[in-house]
Amino acid sequence: MNELHLHLDGSLTPSVVKKIAEEEHIELSSEDALCQETKGKCERTAENMLPSDEALLSQMSFSSEKGTLADYLKCFELPIRVLQTPQAVRFAAMKLSEELAREGIFYAEIRFAPQFHTQKGYTQEQILLGAIEALGYASLLGIEISFILCMMRGQSDKANEETLNLAVKYFGRGVCALDLAGDEALWPVGAYEGFFSYAAKKGLPFTVHAGEAAGAESVEEALRLGAWRIGHGIAAINDRELMKYLAEHHIPLEMCPTSNLQTGAAQSIEAYPLVEFLERGMCVTVNTDNRTVSNTTMNKEFELIKRINGYSENNKRQLIEHAEMASFKNLAKAR
Ligand SMILES: [Zn+2]
Repeated sequence: MNELHLHLDGSLTPSVVKKIAEEEHIELSSEDALCQETKGKCERTAENMLPSDEALLSQMSFSSEKGTLADYLKCFELPIRVLQTPQAVRFAAMKLSEELAREGIFYAEIRFAPQFHTQKGYTQEQILLGAIEALGYASLLGIEISFILCMMRGQSDKANEETLNLAVKYFGRGVCALDLAGDEALWPVGAYEGFFSYAAKKGLPFTVHAGEAAGAESVEEALRLGAWRIGHGIAAINDRELMKYLAEHHIPLEMCPTSNLQTGAAQSIEAYPLVEFLERGMCVTVNTDNRTVSNTTMNKEFELIKRINGYSENNKRQLIEHAEMASFKNLAKAR
């Protein structure tokens, strides 16, 4: 089974956060360090100064059933704070690979935004090289991983340009594609046209988070700019012509059901448009988006989508086949 839409920073377990904090002497803030109570008293020894897994999870996981994309994005603050060295990023990617391998995933495209990991003075390139070092470890576990580099909406052009250039430089050497992430409702895809036309000129594949917090026009815009895949794309359900186009041009959608319910991109699992997309011949895939933020796994996602009206076991087979076809390495072969 393949997984194609998975954010590294949204998939850190509490034990990974604690390990990095310990190794790198990162003081978890007083909010993180809710010390574990001992017989009703809080004895602040070195050991119990460490926050409990529950305290960490409550910061990194989305708790209420529904909220906004902005609430969802807050869950990334702690992971980003600890992922500020190449070593930390490498370790996180290794531990995530272990988790994926345990779940029976043998190919994963993991994404992150290198520009969010430069607060200690490392360059985006040094951070990326840290991540790439995890590839060898992953292959020992029987899993092939590669990275999608995210440009970020609302961040500086300079930082996004650096990400774009890195993706071009390391394409085929640990990087499989470029992405645009962040709050789509505030920063439309069209504002990034210059970046994507450069990527297209360089032959760099890209996906775009689109049709999640904004409407069908956002997906159309991403397609106009040459996106190979669409992250989420839920809003396509409101536009028949767009669905027809996506089906005819075999543009894969990276759907993330739990995440879409949490951010309010989808209103209910019963009416989640995945089955309708499949019936219209669209190349739909299922993904976790953020394993920790959404408290999910691929197995949980496949359990959840059984509740969609009209879902059949045959759909599961299609989804797994689509995820195989829609990997960037296979899309490149098909072009
Ligand atoms: Zn995403």
